[in-house]
Amino acid sequence: MSEKSVISYRNGPFATVSMGLPGDHEGKTATRVFFVKGAEKLALIDSGLYAGYPSLEQGFEELGYAKSDLDLLLITHEHMDHVGNNGPLKEQTGCTIIGHKGRADRVADNMLNAKTIVHAFPEGEDFDLNVEYLDWMAPNEGPLDSFVADGDIIDLGGGVKLEVVECLGHSMSEIGFFEHSTQTLVIADPLLPVFNPVLYLYEDPAVMRATFDRIEAFIRERDVQTVIFAHEEPRTGADTFELIDNCRARVDGIEDSMLRNIKAKPGIGFAELRDLVCDEFEKVREWRALVSIDASLKAFEAAGRIRQESGGWVHAG
Ligand SMILES: [Zn+2]
Repeated sequence: MSEKSVISYRNGPFATVSMGLPGDHEGKTATRVFFVKGAEKLALIDSGLYAGYPSLEQGFEELGYAKSDLDLLLITHEHMDHVGNNGPLKEQTGCTIIGHKGRADRVADNMLNAKTIVHAFPEGEDFDLNVEYLDWMAPNEGPLDSFVADGDIIDLGGGVKLEVVECLGHSMSEIGFFEHSTQTLVIADPLLPVFNPVLYLYEDPAVMRATFDRIEAFIRERDVQTVIFAHEEPRTGADTFELIDNCRARVDGIEDSMLRNIKAKPGIGFAELRDLVCDEFEKVREWRALVSIDASLKAFEAAGRIRQESGGWVHAG
């Protein structure tokens, strides 16, 4: 093989293909998709980003799989770097695409997928949908063919079984998979890497924190040996506890910063608050941060800790 291998990790039934990310992530983070081979079926977890399609094709070749060998494409969540090759894979392999039903409408419609997150708020409307989102996905979508829910088992044969583990918060329809024969937990984005160039992305802070607790308990109860992630290297179960604590601290840090800034600048607006929080943590001021800041504003407002006043936010304490 003259080209550099695209397989970054192999263990038991798993083989991981890495793809570099563009934009704010360029040179910093890659996304990964995971082949899982059972005695009867070949599955791929996530399809990655469109620019990574040649890597994915090389992955098939390196592993000695024909495209027609792919039986199942399992989707962790609807974000563009996880569903980008659904369309081409469906066309070229005939695979069945399976995921959580909650965001099936977004997986089936690239424009809806992009608009509902990048342009979720007027403050995000300056961001170019193509550059920020649509270009990461093939022009043809690959909608979900069927749905799975927490606890479902996808049996690939020969003892290779993937158990669906719901882990909501980063996306409110995210799932991971626990592989029984190797005690490997595959989770895409609920635990984001420490070196992430953008602010922690969560849609609901309480749900996100509950997921941190759930993953921690799951690793203990199931004696998880390895955890593999979309955006960083695999970790042992024990090393993952450290990452979980770091994720908790980052979500806490965002909320502490928000409250401090609202206290210091009564009437502060949404976009300015986003900018100050991003600056404090040296993160890019971008649309993902709007999602998390909005989620925490809603939670604080519901708890009576802040209130809206003349177009901005004031501390209620
Ligand atoms: Zn994501």
